[in-house]
Amino acid sequence: MFSNNRQWRLKNAAGTWLLALTLPLSAQGAADKGKITAADIVAADIAAANQCDAKRVKLQVLGSGGPELDDRRASSGYLIWMDGKARLLVDIGSGSMLNFERSGARIEDLQALLLSHLHVDHSADLPALVKAAFFTPRQQDLPVLGPSGNYLMPSTSDWLTQLFSPQGAYRYLSEYLVAEQRSSFKLIPQNIPAKPRQVSEYRINDQISVAAVPVHHGPIPALAWQVRAAGCKLTFSGDMSNRYQTLAGLAAGSDILVAHNAVPAGARGVARGLHMTPDEIGSIAGHAQVKLLLLSHRMKRTLGQEADTQTAIQARYNGDIRFADDLQQFVPPGR
Ligand SMILES: [Zn+2]
Repeated sequence: MFSNNRQWRLKNAAGTWLLALTLPLSAQGAADKGKITAADIVAADIAAANQCDAKRVKLQVLGSGGPELDDRRASSGYLIWMDGKARLLVDIGSGSMLNFERSGARIEDLQALLLSHLHVDHSADLPALVKAAFFTPRQQDLPVLGPSGNYLMPSTSDWLTQLFSPQGAYRYLSEYLVAEQRSSFKLIPQNIPAKPRQVSEYRINDQISVAAVPVHHGPIPALAWQVRAAGCKLTFSGDMSNRYQTLAGLAAGSDILVAHNAVPAGARGVARGLHMTPDEIGSIAGHAQVKLLLLSHRMKRTLGQEADTQTAIQARYNGDIRFADDLQQFVPPGR
């Protein structure tokens, strides 16, 4: 299902190349550092030169809100469709699974879940997905890729253990995690190192690969993700301040950048330490020369501020800007 080690490289905002730490996915979730070869780099260059086949790929917003329950939006979640099938989930916040149902997606088509971080508004609906999968013909294991842990947050694998192990809160679903127990499929956790400026890439299938880079979200281990499908690059900031300055490099040349618009211009204090201001979003989108900037994770403090937000972004980025709503679909604008 997954390839072995592959290498790729990304240019960061300062113009230096970041070499990827490549990690194979396996049933054991083992991490393994690979070696770079000339053939790998050539292959990466060829892949980077691929044109986006926009007819085959679609991004659907399952949750355009943050943690608030009175914003009339589901919490964070995105679905990537390819060739008419829902293949990847990026985040699975509360309410996103109701919109998954409304989208017409099928659980048995999913090939991975990517988590930006484990805050409730990005992760709370996973048990709902696992339970619902029981009623589907799903047979294929489901990789769950997310950050490693620290003193505040469990690693992705520990989080799954705390939920689904025989001692976990949802121990009645432990068959989906414990190898010895019979079930139609398993959750396969993969912890992504949360060290700054280290890019990790995973191959999902012949036509889809994903990459993650750590981003700063206060003390919470957090990742930005990129999905590469049929030559299209879709990048997701997750929640982040730009203190690590890693997103522009990951997002370079993206067809769509989903940036989280959780604070307004002039934000201060704790919120400012956790999130990007509109001018920072504009600066990143401008440096990365993304084709379409989609603003999501909208909260009451940014809802109603769209005109000011757009003005601040347009001072630094002259591409297309859209504000996300639940269930909207976006096709890559192409090159
Ligand atoms: Zn959030």
